[in-house]
Amino acid sequence: MFFTPAASKRAVAGWLVALVIGLSVLGAFLHCSDNVISRNRYAGTVPYGSSFWLPWHHQQFRILQISDPQVESVWDKCKDVDSIHHCGTHNTSRFISRAISFTNPDFVVVTGDLVFGPRSPVSAFQAVLLPLDRSSVPYATIFGNHDVQRCSKWDEHESAAHLRQRSTLHGTSKLMVGNGQLCVWMIDYSHTYAGWVNPAHLAWIRNDSSCRNAGASLAFTHFPVALLRSNIVGSLNEPIDWPRAPSELLQTLHLLPSLKVVGFGHDHTNTACGTTPDGLTGCYAGSAGYTTYGDRNVPRQARVYDIYKNYRVFTFRVLDGQSLQSTEYHELQ
Ligand SMILES: [Zn+2]
Repeated sequence: MFFTPAASKRAVAGWLVALVIGLSVLGAFLHCSDNVISRNRYAGTVPYGSSFWLPWHHQQFRILQISDPQVESVWDKCKDVDSIHHCGTHNTSRFISRAISFTNPDFVVVTGDLVFGPRSPVSAFQAVLLPLDRSSVPYATIFGNHDVQRCSKWDEHESAAHLRQRSTLHGTSKLMVGNGQLCVWMIDYSHTYAGWVNPAHLAWIRNDSSCRNAGASLAFTHFPVALLRSNIVGSLNEPIDWPRAPSELLQTLHLLPSLKVVGFGHDHTNTACGTTPDGLTGCYAGSAGYTTYGDRNVPRQARVYDIYKNYRVFTFRVLDGQSLQSTEYHELQ
């Protein structure tokens, strides 16, 4: 059997098409795409309804918010940073550890995208959580959209089980401080399905009675709940990735007594606080992750909230660098 020139060209074209398809499949396997898991699979898998209580000893209660460390592998190299020797995942762990020492918080909230669909979930979670475990400060974790992805070695049940075991609180949950004067709500919003929150989670929040007389409430989500339109303090360096929040979520937030702020992440280079069109105060935490996308001009960072017993709330950002710096200390209205 022999090929004519035309048949030979067709054969080569066929092989090229097969090669391109093969490489695409291999590429999809090697790199985590931004997949979402179906609403039905997600419903009911993430825990909700746990509460934790802490005393309010001092004049101020301090919360450190860390967001989007997004560790895929402990071997990853840094992205979007000015030259740092041997920069990698350990820089993320080091920053988290330093931020805790620098701010000495009473409670830490990690608002999602702890990892990025890792094939070694234990080591990836370890890079983020070990500094927290070592600090002995109680902490809460909520999922972001990258914590559960199709190519991750763990599915959402396994990741949730791991986080529930390690964190003080995981999923939609509540921290009560003092005798309920201050309540902090963690809300698992949109981690797998853009624009969706489990109605059972919202019902649990709305039916809560122990925080009805709170003098101050704070809420934390992974995704921004709305656009920030006015009173901007800080910078918005990328478009706000705002999956249209369900009205039930916004209604639930408005029902929280004396809600001072909704803290979120997801957009790594947005660092601002501001007011949403319907009057909520929202703040970004920036990103703590060195091996995920960022901006050379935006340091890796975290956010602090100081709540005083007269219910005034102040915030500032903690920037990583040769030494840590705090910036934009201001009161939330
Ligand atoms: Zn995200």
